[in-house]
Amino acid sequence: MGKRYYCDYCDRSFQDNMHNRKKHLNGVQHHRAKKAWFDNFKDPKAILIDEQAKKMCRKFLQKGICDFGPNCRFSHMSEEDFLSLKRQVEVENSQRHFEDKILSDRRIDDWLSKRERRLNAPVVKETLRLRWKNTLKKVTYLLSSSPFLTFRRHSCLLL
Ligand SMILES: [Zn+2]
Ligand SMILES: [Zn+2]
Repeated sequence: MGKRYYCDYCDRSFQDNMHNRKKHLNGVQHHRAKKAWFDNFKDPKAILIDEQAKKMCRKFLQKGICDFGPNCRFSHMSEEDFLSLKRQVEVENSQRHFEDKILSDRRIDDWLSKRERRLNAPVVKETLRLRWKNTLKKVTYLLSSSPFLTFRRHSCLLL
């Protein structure tokens, strides 16, 4: 027994040779499976817009089955399918909105905690302490060493 070819889309395998492969990859069944597989990843909103642009398939409407399957250029969606798809889109929209809100809340929290950490950082505290100490020293020096007039002039400059 030779190698086997496994088709992901169709979830089936067959003996791997040129003939079988060509036959499979060009087959209607494979095309349908492939399209259905990609549709799985489509956004419900995109599907809804796609389907709304199509006319209802008469054949499917009458017989409940159409040879074209997912490849049909007309819509095979029933009223109920549409409604449930619409609901799905709505649910997703509100979820997305909710997630966005959580994300932005988290960003603000992050920013606040980062800011707090920065303010509480030992280096900053130390710098502030030194600056304050220097100011105190300067003031004490001015107060103690200068005559009243000089002090007044300095304090005017300071102001
Ligand atoms: Zn296949
Ligand atoms: Zn159809």
